[in-house]
Amino acid sequence: MMLQQTTVAAVIPYFERWMKRFPSVQELAAADESEVLTFWQGLGYYRRARNLHASAKKIDGDWSGQFPQEYESLRALPGIGDYTAQAVRAFAFDQPVPVLDANVIRVVARLFDLRAPVDTATGLTKVRAKLEELLPAKGGYEFVSAMMELGALVCRSGRPDCLLCPLKELCAAQHPEKLPVKAPKAAIKERTELAAWVWDGRAVLLQQSATRRWVGMWRLPPLDGEPPAGPAAELTYSIVRERVTLRIHPRSKGDLSASAEQRKAFSLRDLESIAIPSPHRRAITKMIQNIVDHG
Ligand code: SF4
Repeated sequence: MMLQQTTVAAVIPYFERWMKRFPSVQELAAADESEVLTFWQGLGYYRRARNLHASAKKIDGDWSGQFPQEYESLRALPGIGDYTAQAVRAFAFDQPVPVLDANVIRVVARLFDLRAPVDTATGLTKVRAKLEELLPAKGGYEFVSAMMELGALVCRSGRPDCLLCPLKELCAAQHPEKLPVKAPKAAIKERTELAAWVWDGRAVLLQQSATRRWVGMWRLPPLDGEPPAGPAAELTYSIVRERVTLRIHPRSKGDLSASAEQRKAFSLRDLESIAIPSPHRRAITKMIQNIVDHG
């Protein structure tokens, strides 16, 4: 689940720290959500952490701690979609099932010269049907690993190394570098968010988010309108199809409009043990650095 939307290289240190603290489903199920979020901090897309936590509770409760192995049971766990369910079945339980990651999709689209866009339901259904024709009668781990490796090392995106490919006699692709076909992407939207910096010399005021994206996490209090003076700090971050500019304005507590969300001041030491969305943690670090540099 950490690898959904995050690269292997970025995940490794988080995974190692996570597995030290939560070495079993039971340990994770028994943990507090705030601690789970703290261990996820920096990976983004916090819904994955909440889903993993909820899945651990479900496995611990409904399945007596035994990880389910069948597709439907896995799909019933929070945050487990088609890809993750099939990957767990292939890698953890060695079942011959279609695991459709980007590398496998590219290899199959080229092998069978499939021209339908693979990021549409129709295109993906065609890829899955062709992959199912190739599955071995038993064992999934080696087959899926081999397909993924072939895609990563030989049948690479853009520039396939067909001369070295063990499947070249079977491959139907006429212009493999043009495959797989993708549907045109929606444009990235630009958006600005404003947040307040309320600092009393020892502690910074944060607000506990109730919004879906960062629910339960502590962030700088949002501001409604752009104040006349420019921001004291600014940074950008990306979320699905959006590039957000976060601007931080120094304010006093009395300037803030009323909010149903809880507000609380945290010392620098306290900030280390609470869950803060990465862009807001970066903004806090910038503002503290400004204070250190300019007093
Ligand atoms: S022959 Fe080329 S295009 Fe076909 S599977 Fe091998 S590397 Fe990919």
